[in-house]
Amino acid sequence: MSYAYIPANPRMHGGKRSKIIYLIYHYTANRGDTARGNGNYFARGEGPIASAHYFVDDAEVILSVPEDTVAYSVGGRPQSWHIPYYLRANNFNSISIEMCVHADGRIGNATIARAQALGREICERHGIDSAHILRHYDVNGKLCPNANELLNDSVWAVFKAGIATASVPAEQSAPEETPALAPAGDWIVGHNYEVIVGSLRVRDGAGLNHGIIKSYPRGTVFTLKEIVHLSISTWGRTPSGWVCLEMRGAAYAADRGEYSAGGTQGPSDGWEVGHNYTVTASSLRVRDGAGLNHAVIKSYPHGTVFTLKEIVHLSISTWGRTPSGWVCLIMDGERYVK
Ligand SMILES: [Zn+2]
Repeated sequence: MSYAYIPANPRMHGGKRSKIIYLIYHYTANRGDTARGNGNYFARGEGPIASAHYFVDDAEVILSVPEDTVAYSVGGRPQSWHIPYYLRANNFNSISIEMCVHADGRIGNATIARAQALGREICERHGIDSAHILRHYDVNGKLCPNANELLNDSVWAVFKAGIATASVPAEQSAPEETPALAPAGDWIVGHNYEVIVGSLRVRDGAGLNHGIIKSYPRGTVFTLKEIVHLSISTWGRTPSGWVCLEMRGAAYAADRGEYSAGGTQGPSDGWEVGHNYTVTASSLRVRDGAGLNHAVIKSYPHGTVFTLKEIVHLSISTWGRTPSGWVCLIMDGERYVK
């Protein structure tokens, strides 16, 4: 398949990588946009750090980030309880395809066909089987691609089945170009970040006026514990001190799309071992350890009562051991039990 390459601005993507395991589909959620408009937007490199490898519309495919380079596509925090591939599929082991959206909110049939044909080529190149083709939704629960009923598992199964036999559709005239909106993106306390510059100074406070304690070499991974915005820069507190995350729009660290597994001490929330608690979420996953990286054993339906036996505080969540395993009691201020 032929496509134009409009290189994304380097601040929007990560470095080289080798292992590609997953293919992930998205939609842009930006009504009336085009593949080329998105390519141009990411080439300018303005706005929050985000990227995808390919953009597809009814007329063409645009390559924005090469396949051997990390794109920041699926690193966000969980947005629902549907996260079967959270932390397993991530920005470092996946290729992302963004499908553009018509003004009426639908993904065009030609876009679907072209995205399937592109997906077929990618799967053949990297030996990706059907079980490793995902929606962004399957990674962190984001409602993406939320068009053409693709979040419906049976519709998605039909889409996936079409990839194996897809061929490039006939070219169509490009719809009128409209500028892309800035995608969402943010620094997230509790996420692990990787240093993407040669060396990053660690200081005893937020700002260049603070003393240097040490340096993190490229590739260092740290957990972001606190964020401070100064006039032209954003600073983050790490376990060893403060680092500049971003200055004048240039990022020095990249979201690895994972929460810290380290048991840093959080504030006391008044949870009490030995007390009974009731599940207030519609369903609460029970895991074999404290943290989203642990395997799901079962689920407690709404209204389940359990006795709290042990408490562990992670960076932005608090976990409780119950008779059947570990559950998240509260995450990022949202309680799941009372
Ligand atoms: Zn997405």
